[in-house]
Amino acid sequence: MTKPALDASTEWKALAAQVADDVVTWRRHLHSHPELSFEEHETADYVAGKLEAFGGFELSRPTPTSVVATLRGGRPGPVVAVRADMDALPIDEQSGVPFASERPGVMHACGHDGHTAILLGVARILSERREQVRGELRFLFQHAEELFPGGAQQLVDEGVLEDVETVLGLHLMAPMESGALLLRSGAAMAAPDTFAITVVGKGGHAAMPETSIDPVAIGAQIVTNLQQLVSRVNDPLEPLVLSVTRFHAGTADNVIPERAELGGTVRSFDAELRKRMPELMERVVKGVTEAHGAEYVFDYTFGYRALVNDEATTERLRGAFEATFGADRVSTPPPIMGGEDFSAYLAVRPGTFFFVGAKPEGVEVAYPHHHPRFAIDEGALPVGVESFLVAIEAVTQG
Ligand SMILES: [Zn+2]
Ligand SMILES: [Zn+2]
Repeated sequence: MTKPALDASTEWKALAAQVADDVVTWRRHLHSHPELSFEEHETADYVAGKLEAFGGFELSRPTPTSVVATLRGGRPGPVVAVRADMDALPIDEQSGVPFASERPGVMHACGHDGHTAILLGVARILSERREQVRGELRFLFQHAEELFPGGAQQLVDEGVLEDVETVLGLHLMAPMESGALLLRSGAAMAAPDTFAITVVGKGGHAAMPETSIDPVAIGAQIVTNLQQLVSRVNDPLEPLVLSVTRFHAGTADNVIPERAELGGTVRSFDAELRKRMPELMERVVKGVTEAHGAEYVFDYTFGYRALVNDEATTERLRGAFEATFGADRVSTPPPIMGGEDFSAYLAVRPGTFFFVGAKPEGVEVAYPHHHPRFAIDEGALPVGVESFLVAIEAVTQG
């Protein structure tokens, strides 16, 4: 049997279907053996082992837990990078699936197991059709998406995007209809920054507050007042989230503690607003603590950049997806306040990060990503394979 040519779009679905069982098997293996960010040693070995078995790749390990596989095609064309992230989360799995995590406290609760398996499927299909591949494909099996400073920036620093013309990535999305394809030009995902606040008061007896400076009461006011920045200072048409996600203080019912520790995240798109946030927040923290005679320590960390998709690439993919999957399966999502370290690639090369719906069957509302019961529809995996194949074809065609 002759292998179908790479530009025969109608073949993509059949090819994706041929690897679907293997992709599910790989995904389930990865799902039951999750590894935390920067610790993906077994995962990277597993991926490298598969790629070696497929053959035709030049493999490199730019960092201890990442794998980059280069496939040089038999036809002229650009260098295109395609990325999958491989890390899991510190969550105790409660999904109830038979291939659940064998590692207590670690779970693939964001779908990165699916991303890795999808990209392996793409790699296998194209390695078997190397002569027909245009240009050079660089498969980035990336570590540590979930933990700042993130694996993407490290891989960029290692030079994996050298000579790359376009970079592609996808994320499975459990809340969205399985098999749906969602693309957004421009700013698509927010910059996730974090902050830490220590309120330093004066400890004492809970029955005699006049002899103490209560960091719990002051911390509570800080939490409330920080929300004023979102509702009263920020332009209501400019997306901004400020969530205080931790507040720790005290050891006993009858003791006013000396300090309270607070922390959380700020999500934004606008670069100017993003830059102003630490100053605006510190003004609130300083004002509230000073008003009550306490002191404070304020730390602010800028995380991943906002993710900005290249318009030309995104619209090219949109056209190809509509032609392949039908216009009714392709749509434009609103911007998402979640962050993604794929933004590190897009900061230096044009490309697109798109979404593939993966809502489990028979479910009205899916458990969200990062939830202990998070699950995906595995029927979305071959769609992911097919969408990458179509996207690669679209960006390598002259
Ligand atoms: Zn995640
Ligand atoms: Zn993710």
